[in-house]
Amino acid sequence: MPTSYPVYLDYAATTPIDPRVLEQMMPWLTTHFGNPASNTHAYGWDAEEAVEKARAQVAAVIGAHPKEIVWTSGATESNNLAIKGAALAYADKGKHLITVNTEHKAVLDTFAYLQTQGFEVTYLPVNAEGLISIEQLRAALRPDTTLVSVMAVNNEIGVVQDLAGIAALCVEHDVLFHVDAAQAVAKVDLHIDRIPVDLMSFSGHKVYAPKGIGALYVRRKPRVRLAAQIHGGGHERGYRSGTLATHQIVGMGAAFALAQSEQLTETARVTQLQQRLWAGLTEALPALYLNGSAEHRVPYNLNISFAGIEGEALMMSLQRLAVSSGSACSSASLEPSYVLTAIGREPQLAHSALRISLGRQTTEADIDVALDEIITQVRRLRELSPVWDSQTNTLIA
Ligand SMILES: *Cc1c(COP(=O)(O)O)cnc(C)c1O
Repeated sequence: MPTSYPVYLDYAATTPIDPRVLEQMMPWLTTHFGNPASNTHAYGWDAEEAVEKARAQVAAVIGAHPKEIVWTSGATESNNLAIKGAALAYADKGKHLITVNTEHKAVLDTFAYLQTQGFEVTYLPVNAEGLISIEQLRAALRPDTTLVSVMAVNNEIGVVQDLAGIAALCVEHDVLFHVDAAQAVAKVDLHIDRIPVDLMSFSGHKVYAPKGIGALYVRRKPRVRLAAQIHGGGHERGYRSGTLATHQIVGMGAAFALAQSEQLTETARVTQLQQRLWAGLTEALPALYLNGSAEHRVPYNLNISFAGIEGEALMMSLQRLAVSSGSACSSASLEPSYVLTAIGREPQLAHSALRISLGRQTTEADIDVALDEIITQVRRLRELSPVWDSQTNTLIA
């Protein structure tokens, strides 16, 4: 890595491939290049065996049967297949769907599309903590509701929804439950014995596997029907056609197995780093605000707003850090993040938010660089700010 590169604290946007994962992928790109669908020779048989081993590794993270895992190109495609696939397959039963207004765009845009196709969608609000209310969900359920979709861990603010509570309600009302778990693998409990979901989306590149690979869990008992969204060849039990990318799949399996085996030690390690960062910032700087629940959140994320300064100016001045303002997807536009707006942040504070996301290569030294950089720059920008009183260290009313 060039020494001029900033400290990477944007693991919620993407992660590097773990070298241990890459090592397992390499043979499947060169000598072991067979098509897993070729059933007449060893090239194909070996590739198929590797694909099935990886399927079992992904299934093991949530206690599923390997046959319940469908390979896709990423969580965007998994969300599309789950939501459109289920909405269409159950349209004879009803055309009402429920989701949450802080979901990832891959979910929200898919529901918006379904609204153009005659479906009705209820978007649940979240409270100031970023969490939905089970009672509001209960009230939104109708006889013609077929699907509820709620993410496990929010990609911008890191909050964890009450999946077990939502799942229990969906079981009680015989409604399908889909979870976008792209940010949740090896971070929160996703075991289907405790969280009986019907559909769950995963992404490789959020878990130290390559970009361009993902998976969808599709419950077999009771069987969930899905209308395929990609046709041709009938791969993946007809749910998702296309030649399987063996090397990507092997990488995702290896990465999920690794993340699962290291979950406890890694969570403990990152929790310490998060606490070091939060304590350092709150000791040095007044008027900063944690976005999202302090209690129901993963240790891998801190999303913080700083009173009295402009987000753009802050981002530009943090030259030693690679962090995000809100979500990577919306950082091209100057609209305040819809997630921060949904938790009730006023525009000025929403605009001054930083998403700092920690990961496998984050060290204590990285946190100390982040502390030094953020404290120095926030102080400097507040000195220059017309709305900040540096004598009293408060906003000018
Ligand atoms: C990254 C992400 C996605 C999209 O995943 P891709 O594999 O990049 O398509 C979907 N949902 C959430 C919550 C994410 O964080």
